[in-house]
Amino acid sequence: MPRSSKQGMHRAMQRIRINLENPRTDSYDIFIGHGIMDRLRSIVDVVAGVDRCAIITDSAVNPLYGKMVMEKLRETALPVDIIEIPAGEASKSMDTVLDVAGQLLAQNISRRSLIIALGGGVVGDVAGFVASIYMRSVPYVQIPTTLLAQVDSSVGGKTGVNLLQGKNLLGTFYQPKTVFIELSMLDTLSDDDFRNGLAEVIKYGIISDYEIFELLEHQRDAIQKRRPDLIQTLVERSCKTKAEIVENDEREAGQRRVLNFGHTLGHALEAASDYELSHGQAVATGMVAAANISHRLDYLDEASCGRITDVIKQYGLPTRIGQGSAFDSEKLLSFVTADKKTVAGQPHFVLVKGIGTPFVTAEVPSGTITDVIEELRR
Ligand code: NAD
Repeated sequence: MPRSSKQGMHRAMQRIRINLENPRTDSYDIFIGHGIMDRLRSIVDVVAGVDRCAIITDSAVNPLYGKMVMEKLRETALPVDIIEIPAGEASKSMDTVLDVAGQLLAQNISRRSLIIALGGGVVGDVAGFVASIYMRSVPYVQIPTTLLAQVDSSVGGKTGVNLLQGKNLLGTFYQPKTVFIELSMLDTLSDDDFRNGLAEVIKYGIISDYEIFELLEHQRDAIQKRRPDLIQTLVERSCKTKAEIVENDEREAGQRRVLNFGHTLGHALEAASDYELSHGQAVATGMVAAANISHRLDYLDEASCGRITDVIKQYGLPTRIGQGSAFDSEKLLSFVTADKKTVAGQPHFVLVKGIGTPFVTAEVPSGTITDVIEELRR
């Protein structure tokens, strides 16, 4: 569709409030819209008395948006610097955290300064983690630039880095002061990364938003062509779903765990592939596995299991596990049990009783996990 006809499909900016336990310090707004960069400088007002800003971004996002964001923030007359980390999952490491912390010190970033995470989930997780521990914590803001970050990782305050033993094993819960979502930044996103974000949108459809699930089923072509009004709907609805869940369970003691649908095996696949598989791809296959486990254990009917698999396939996301030895069931099971969600040796899975009805269980026999892995490798 030509860009001019797309422009008529933009809707007004939306504000979603996320109310957390300590309303004075923790609640915050998510702003979502197309062409809202002129409002960007107001993000520094969410914290009183900011003395300077440090933008943390990656080597792919910096040339696209670094200068623009820096100039918008400099309109506030505050000093603004940029710290760039290499693009990619390998940057989610303690080495990066130490390097970034050193650069923040060199830039005189103090407790009165504001850190700005400008990038996808990797930048958001690393910058949020650094912000939570640098000088015992400094405020930070998320400007997510991938679909995955806009619908998921920038909201909710989970931060962290990976260890050799697995995903996100070092991290904190630390909420941003605001989330600023400029939807037009998605225009430069690759199709692969767009698909990765759709995996998390599909997840919201499966665990809580039947209307979004149906929209994904019926509007595949328009969504794949990134029709702006549909993208805005998907981002807004995803943020609303996530905000509601996080409001009820900020520290993942209960309900928030349903957001991990597809992630138990997904994280294992990511780690087993040595992060060759992207988060979105791994979660997509993990969701197919979770649906199949739900069906084998008689929670989910065959038709719903088929719809879940079909919608994932329709968006070009993987529904099968690779044949290589990295993915044999024993190896994957060892990653599954190293997962944070394992308690007393029992991995926790999010299963579904229907589309929109998730539950968490530690009662999945390892034989069932192995059977499903083997079936998906065939
Ligand atoms: P990513 O941050 O690596 O971004 C993917 C690629 O897109 C990178 O190369 C990046 O440079 C590039 N990019 C970013 N914005 C762009 C733009 N607008 N135009 C062009 N290129 C752009 O990956 P991701 O998929 O955004 O995030 C995955 C990470 O998020 C994983 O580490 C995952 O564990 C984490 N995650 C965290 C949470 C959470 O709650 N904290 C939730 C889900 C996922």
